[in-house]
Amino acid sequence: MKAELQKYIDTIPAVAEAAELKETFWLNDRKVPEAQQNITEVHPDQIKDASDRLLRFAPYLKKVFPELEETNGIIESELREIPSMKEFLKRVYGAEIEGRLMLKMDSDLPVSGSVKARGGIYEVLKHAEDLALAAGKLKETDDYSILAESEFVKFFGQYTVQVGSTGNLGMSIGIMSAKLGFHVIVHMSADAKQWKKELLRSRGVEVIEYADDYCAAVTQGRINSDADPMSYFVDDENSQNLFMGYSVAGERLRAQLEEQNITVDSDHPLFVYIPCGIGGAPGGVTYGIKQVYGDNVHCFFTEPTHACCMLMGMATGEHDGVSVQDFGIDGRTDADGLAVGRPSAFVGRVIEPMLSGIATISDCKLYDLMRGLLSEEEIFIEPSSCAAFAALIRPEDMKTYIEKQGLADKMGQATHIAWATGGCMVPEETREIYLKTPGCLKEA
Ligand SMILES: *Cc1c(COP(=O)(O)O)cnc(C)c1O
Repeated sequence: MKAELQKYIDTIPAVAEAAELKETFWLNDRKVPEAQQNITEVHPDQIKDASDRLLRFAPYLKKVFPELEETNGIIESELREIPSMKEFLKRVYGAEIEGRLMLKMDSDLPVSGSVKARGGIYEVLKHAEDLALAAGKLKETDDYSILAESEFVKFFGQYTVQVGSTGNLGMSIGIMSAKLGFHVIVHMSADAKQWKKELLRSRGVEVIEYADDYCAAVTQGRINSDADPMSYFVDDENSQNLFMGYSVAGERLRAQLEEQNITVDSDHPLFVYIPCGIGGAPGGVTYGIKQVYGDNVHCFFTEPTHACCMLMGMATGEHDGVSVQDFGIDGRTDADGLAVGRPSAFVGRVIEPMLSGIATISDCKLYDLMRGLLSEEEIFIEPSSCAAFAALIRPEDMKTYIEKQGLADKMGQATHIAWATGGCMVPEETREIYLKTPGCLKEA
């Protein structure tokens, strides 16, 4: 460990526990009321802009992806109550969750099967629109289904899109870019699963593999892209476009809660738990939800013990100035979607005044939770997604937070949403392997 970081180990208990690879729960003491109104890095108008852009593209998406026929080209997932899972969490972890427990099933998001179908696809669409508008080939008032015509496929074919990925971002960027006609190169880190590489290659995506971690894949991708004036780099470490694509989830969630007659106000608090890698997806979703519900929503991030980069960045206030490796942590986890050693350069700073806290979880528990959700609710989600339950299975810490916030007498009317971030594209054989992987629990 780097010697200058010792001061954080000595003064912040959650950092000390995390550095020892223990599960921990950090509560954010820099959270302030109404924070979402005072963010300067991004603006709510950008959410509206992203949302409008997704609507413009809906006719195109409907045309090229048959699975979007039903939703008229809108990529969205179900919000489902999971009462049996709530019982499971109580039985196995002693988590007496008051209120309703729901699952936001981005694990089933169409087109690319993970939360990355929000931000990743959005950024590719925005880039395509920018190019076509600048070339005078498209107007915002056009029916965008014309983009499926060969003239456009040929036009986009002159350009390259590149991205560094642990897997799921590459899937979203790769599938969408290839569909539009772009030449697309995905730089995959060592954690990326073989089936994701194969699936991408089958769709015409160029996949470059690295023996190194995610940061190395991103660095090389950026260098390659910068050297080519016709290439665009999707920068997961800094991208505001990705962030805005994710943030549209806020208004979509509101519509779903309203549809199910679920109230969120000062007497009916909402709790949202989102697995975190580099921070873009959970950060963007949090920003979007905060714009809708303000102080009545409480957002938590969850991370694997071996890749707790956001916790380290936020708790120390160093953000992307520290990596988990600086603390002597290896960054290796079965939660491939979360296998990131250094947090985003901008997300941590944006959400610092909004985030409630961060919980970490051991890999073996992810498998227990995965089997629990499958047996209780018949829902399969990938190991990374299962981190969504990390805070909920720490009832003592949740109680501390709830009491500090003065919410103890309102929890009977609370709604908890575990954000399932990926799963439906996992091939059957890989699913079988996951389901046979030992967990932390002894019982069979
Ligand atoms: C990418 C990913 C996340 C987290 O998103 P970040 O933007 O990296 O923080 C969570 N779950 C899954 C399954 C993912 O693929």
